[in-house]
Amino acid sequence: MKYIFFSIVFFCGSLCIDAQNNSLPNSLKIELPTYKLNLGPIIETIEIPLVSKKASEIDIKSDHWDTTLHNPYVDTVQQFPLELNFTDSTYASPVPHTKVVTSRYGWRRGRAHNGIDIDLVTGDSVVSILSGIVRFAKYANGFGNTVVVRHYNGLESTYAHLSHIGVKANDTLVRGQYIGKGGNTGNSRGSHLHLELSYKGEQIHPEYLFDFSSKNAIRSEQVWVTQKWTHARYHNSRKVSTVKLIKSADEAALASLARQPKLYVVQKGDTLYAISRRNNMSLSRLCETNAIKQSSPLKIGQKLVLEL
Ligand SMILES: [Zn+2]
Repeated sequence: MKYIFFSIVFFCGSLCIDAQNNSLPNSLKIELPTYKLNLGPIIETIEIPLVSKKASEIDIKSDHWDTTLHNPYVDTVQQFPLELNFTDSTYASPVPHTKVVTSRYGWRRGRAHNGIDIDLVTGDSVVSILSGIVRFAKYANGFGNTVVVRHYNGLESTYAHLSHIGVKANDTLVRGQYIGKGGNTGNSRGSHLHLELSYKGEQIHPEYLFDFSSKNAIRSEQVWVTQKWTHARYHNSRKVSTVKLIKSADEAALASLARQPKLYVVQKGDTLYAISRRNNMSLSRLCETNAIKQSSPLKIGQKLVLEL
């Protein structure tokens, strides 16, 4: 009964968005009828920040331009939803051959895989997918030899596990320009390119923005990125996530209200079977969601995704 009530509440709340839209350019206020035990039915106002900047308004070297750190944004929190704009309809393939994706953005072996793995042979040329300026070009823990390029819409692309770095920090690059050779450096099992996309330190699911088929298409020149596309826990590294692009602020705000997946931290004595029973999930669904086998050993502290 409680869930039916909240579903109705959610629906009613969603109807109030439009009226609030014009007065607040940087946020959306949503009036959400809700029920509090001690107060009865009340209207709660929820404010959702909208961060929106046109590519031409961004001076890409003005904010956290640090050439010594792979991620200089560890002390900041980027708010979503966020609007991203592109000036092109295609990107340059980072590798000079058909892209074979060997692992996707998503939950993998109990951890977040925050990029997409593309197969290559050590020594293959790797190029920048979009024009921009090299922000970081050196060895980074786990990532091996790494190049980070900041693009003119604020997006950064990271190219990891390179065998050779062919650029320096502050080099200006055009789309498709050589940045280094693919390899197997850092924490890598076999030669591949680990490609990450991020905005102010928050990784974004690459397949939400780009089509990784031979078309090399940018899915939309204007798109809203919601939390769903910035957290690996919403996705499975072995599965293709269905992309439904969000192109308006209203849709972005509504999507931001959706329920977040629950994470469970493995305790001493836990088994996959017991966790699945306690959380009303079948064992096979728990394993599938987390891309693990039923026989996989659990580690204390490991995080499991319970709902998707
Ligand atoms: Zn990877």
